[in-house]
Amino acid sequence: GREAQREFDYFKLSLQWPGTICASTRYCCASNGCCRSEPLQTFTIHGLWPDYDDGTWPACCRRTQFEMDKILPLKETLDKYWPSLFCSSSSTCFSGKGPFWAHEWEKHGTCSAPVVQDELQYFTTALDLYFKYNVTEMLSSGGIQISNGKEYALSDVIDTIKHAFGGSPQIVCKRGSVEELRLCFDKELKPRDCLTTLTNGIVSRRKHCPQYITLPTYDPLV
Ligand code: 5GP
Ligand code: 5GP
Repeated sequence: GREAQREFDYFKLSLQWPGTICASTRYCCASNGCCRSEPLQTFTIHGLWPDYDDGTWPACCRRTQFEMDKILPLKETLDKYWPSLFCSSSSTCFSGKGPFWAHEWEKHGTCSAPVVQDELQYFTTALDLYFKYNVTEMLSSGGIQISNGKEYALSDVIDTIKHAFGGSPQIVCKRGSVEELRLCFDKELKPRDCLTTLTNGIVSRRKHCPQYITLPTYDPLV
């Protein structure tokens, strides 16, 4: 069998900006995702990810199939705040079907022990952190009113989050627009800095954010 994974060092809560993601996908398939008819001007959940301090991360740690029965009371909330924005045939770790969040449990959730032990706890933890640290609200109360076509200084966005959250975020861009904003937590789920190879919360060259960034409005595809 496979060697046991070493325990992770910290959590990363990855949030996605629908306006950026939906602008570059043709695979709209779910009514709560890029096919929705209402605008969505808020960050939604991508995943709660266990990470190592060296910049790598474990994935697909336990062969456990996602079981819908275990999280039925959360389903409505998950569909709303953790929508599958687009669909693709890309494979997941094990079962390869189900909503986006089921895939996130199999890929990342199964590597979250001993802090998170099972499916229900994984989704409860992710939702709790998402509601407790509302980045869309942090930005607006910090004076960053999100509006289509407007440009924001990357440093203002980072400083606003740092100030409100208590740790520096990681920001991922796609062609100058914010694709993801990630918050990091220690194993007691207290805010901490995200580790990045470059300074100021910028990830790789490919996902590099320019000095001025946009948060485009999601436009229904239909
Ligand atoms: P991408 O190459 O698009 O940035 O990431 C592809 C996938 O790799 C993500 O959807 C996620 O599952 C995983 N991934 C990317 N960056 C990180 C990270 O910093 N931590 C963890 N745990 N997974 C990541
Ligand atoms: P990750 O590698 O981030 O753990 O998983 C990303 C995969 O989930 C993508 O390959 C994509 O096919 C699927 N997926 C479904 N809905 C979404 C979504 O809303 N956002 C992202 N980033 N991926 C999604």
